[in-house]
Amino acid sequence: MGTKSRETIYGASIRAAAERAAEARKDADRLAVEAWNARMLGFQGPAQPSPALGDALNARHRYLEVKCLGCNIHQTVALDIVRRPKTTPVHELERYMRCRQCSEVRRYPYKRSHLVALRPTKISASCPPSTWWPGER
Ligand SMILES: [Zn+2]
Repeated sequence: MGTKSRETIYGASIRAAAERAAEARKDADRLAVEAWNARMLGFQGPAQPSPALGDALNARHRYLEVKCLGCNIHQTVALDIVRRPKTTPVHELERYMRCRQCSEVRRYPYKRSHLVALRPTKISASCPPSTWWPGER
């Protein structure tokens, strides 16, 4: 009996168990993102508690959609370039958001914004800003 037979006996089931755990984590992260989005889009908050940056990324939602309360423009922030630990809850980013346009007009950093939702894509013509829960408008 050597290490080779242990690998033969247990290797496949250990790898399968690790794979199942990773799948379950991804499912849990996706459900947490969906639940948060539902609350934000349906009730406009509260934003707290919110999924962590790393959880949103794991659920393939790379962007946070934010509405500036000064100009009402929706913008997206790429979560993978935010320089915060991956354990940072998404709602904590709100106070760092600065609207460039409003800041230029007012000549001070304009940081009043509303978190809208987590998204898999940037805002574009084919992926418009989030408005309401699908089918409920
Ligand atoms: Zn603005």
